[in-house]
Amino acid sequence: MRNNDVIVIGGGLAGLFAAAVAARQGRKVRVLAYGAGALNIGGGIIDVLGYGYDARPLSSPEAGLADLPPEHPYHKIGRTALADALAFFQDITVAEGYEYQGSLQEMQWLPTAAGTLKPTCLLPKTMNPAVLKQTDRVYVVGFDYLKDFYPQLVARNLQPYFKHQTFTADLCSLNFAEGRDVSSLDIARWLDTPEGQDSFLKQLKRKVEPGSAILIPPVLGTQPDYTLAGKLEAELKCRFVETAALPPAVTGLRLRTLLLNYLKKQGVIVVEKALVSGAMVDQGLCTAVMTENFDRQRTYQAKAYILANGGFYGGGLVAQPGRVIEPIFNIPVAAPEAQEDWSNAQLFSGEKQQFAQLGIQVDEAMRPLSADGSILLSNVHVAGKSLGGYDFCFEKSGNGVALASAYQAAISC
Ligand SMILES: Cc1cc2nc3c(=O)[nH]c(=O)nc-3n(C[C@H](O)[C@H](O)[C@H](O)COP(=O)(O)OP(=O)(O)OC[C@H]3O[C@@H](n4cnc5c(N)ncnc54)[C@H](O)[C@@H]3O)c2cc1C
Repeated sequence: MRNNDVIVIGGGLAGLFAAAVAARQGRKVRVLAYGAGALNIGGGIIDVLGYGYDARPLSSPEAGLADLPPEHPYHKIGRTALADALAFFQDITVAEGYEYQGSLQEMQWLPTAAGTLKPTCLLPKTMNPAVLKQTDRVYVVGFDYLKDFYPQLVARNLQPYFKHQTFTADLCSLNFAEGRDVSSLDIARWLDTPEGQDSFLKQLKRKVEPGSAILIPPVLGTQPDYTLAGKLEAELKCRFVETAALPPAVTGLRLRTLLLNYLKKQGVIVVEKALVSGAMVDQGLCTAVMTENFDRQRTYQAKAYILANGGFYGGGLVAQPGRVIEPIFNIPVAAPEAQEDWSNAQLFSGEKQQFAQLGIQVDEAMRPLSADGSILLSNVHVAGKSLGGYDFCFEKSGNGVALASAYQAAISC
C-alpha cells in the first residue's frame, strides 16, 4: 500500500482545497471523502467577508478583517495566508480553464434568485455583476416549470439598484415532460446538449437585442468551462450573468469537478464513500484513522491528518442535548449549557446565532486546542466548517474560511 504523507478527512471545499495545497507542497495525499458536502447545495462562489462585526456591509472583503475577534478563524490565519490561499485558488481555476475573478480589495454585489444583491469576493466569469452596468438593457430570463427563479420578481426587485438600465422579464420554454419538477441542474444538463443549445438560442434571438445583458439562474452547462457561454454570447452578441445559486448548485458542482480534475493530475487519491469512523491516538499523535464500509473496516495511516468534515450539516459536529460532539477524535467543543442559549429567539434579529459559531478552537497551525488552550493533537489540523468562532451566514464568509483554513492547515502539516 502507498505511504501517505497527508490524509484529508472530508471531500467538501475545505477538504479538496487542503489536498490541492498539500499536493503542491510535494506531499503524497489521500482524501477520505463521504459525499460532496455543501458544494452540492451551494457554494460555487467564494464569499470572504461581506459584513463587518457590527453587521454593516463592508466596502471590500478585506475592510473588516482587522476588526474580527481573536477567536475568528481569519484572525488566527492572518491576512497574508488568506491572500495566498485565494491566489492559489485562482491559479488552479486558471490552470483548469475556468477562471474565477475578484480580489480582496473589491466587493462584488451579485444578484440572487430573489432579486437582492449579495456580497461576495471570487466568482466565475459568467457571474460578473459589472456586466449589468455596461449596458442599458437587462433581460431577466427564467424557464418554464423552474420554481426557484421568477424573472418578474427578480427584475422588479433589482430595478431600483440600477438607475441607468431597464430590466425586462421573460420566460424560455423547455421541451421537458409537462408538469415536471425542474431544477437549475436539469436545465444545465439540457444546455449541455446541442438540441438544448439550439432551442435556447432560437428563443433568445427572438426576445433579446444585441448589446444587452441576460441575467439567468446558473444553468450555462454542468462543466467548469466557458465554452458554452462563449458560444451563446457570440451568437447573440450579448453577455450573460448567472445569479447566485439555489440548491442544487450547478456552480458548486462545477467547482467540485474542477478541483477533482486538478487533484487527479497532482496524483492525489480521492477515496469516495469513505466514512471515517474513528482514529487511533497515541500520546497526542494520531497514528491511523479507520473507515467503516458495508464490506469491512479499513485503516489509513499518514504523517499528518487534516480534519475537514464540516459543521453540523456536514457531520463534522453532532449536537446532543446540552453538548456538541466532534465524532472522530472526540475533540471538546464548548457550548452553552442551556440549549435555549444556543440560538436567538428571533431568527431575523440581525445578530449572529450562537449555534452557528460553535466549533473546534485551534492554534495558528490549525491544531485543535483543549479548553485550557493546550494542543490536543500535534499532527491533526482542522479546516472548514467544523471550526468555531464565526457565523458564515451572518457575515458571508463560508467558502473564504474554507479556503483560508484549508491552506493554513495544509502548509502547517
Ligand atoms: C445552502 C448553502 C449555501 C451556501 N452558499 C455559500 C455561498 O454562496 N458562498 C460561500 O462562500 N459559502 C456558502 N455556503 C457556506 C459554505 O458552503 C461552507 O462554509 C463550506 O462549504 C464549508 O466547507 P467544508 O468543506 O468545511 O464543509 P462541507 O461542505 O460540509 O464538507 C464536509 C464534508 O465532509 C464529509 N464528512 C463528514 N463526516 C465525515 C467522515 N466521518 N468521514 C468522511 N467524510 C466526512 C461530509 O459528508 C462532507 O462531504 C453555503 C452553505 C450552505 C449550506
